Amino acid sequence: MATCSDCRTDYLTGVLSCPECGLFVWGDTIVLNSDKEVTDISGIVAFIIPKSDRRWVLALDNEVNIGRADPDKDLWPEVDLTSESDALNGVSRQHALLRHSDHGPVLVDLDSMNGTIINDFPLSPFQPYLLQNGDRVQFGDLLVKVYLKN
Ligand SMILES: [Zn+2]
Repeated sequence: MATCSDCRTDYLTGVLSCPECGLFVWGDTIVLNSDKEVTDISGIVAFIIPKSDRRWVLALDNEVNIGRADPDKDLWPEVDLTSESDALNGVSRQHALLRHSDHGPVLVDLDSMNGTIINDFPLSPFQPYLLQNGDRVQFGDLLVKVYLKN
């Protein structure tokens, strides 16, 4: 069991959010793309896919690539959406990247075929967008929720 830091409700570990108040639960998640201890990292971003409940928790001391793996081209994005993709949702192999900035984590669309939409606004290719906690991002038609830890 764990206890919500906000409303103090007890809940089973492994859930994505507090069943009482909905606070996002970081939990015992593995931080990808970093050699540092979690406690040493300031910029941590979680990507949650509501459709599958899949999550990635990412440290931003390096760039994080978002897309689909392509063994033929030796492309292995840290956030590999292959298993979340189908012909309909249009995630590109090199769709977007996430990196640290002085103001916080930014998301950059890499001129993807079907684009990146944040809270219903399409991103212009290669224009960095400063992510906010709770943003809803669509890679093509695939919805991802974003949570920031600081
Ligand atoms: Zn709660």
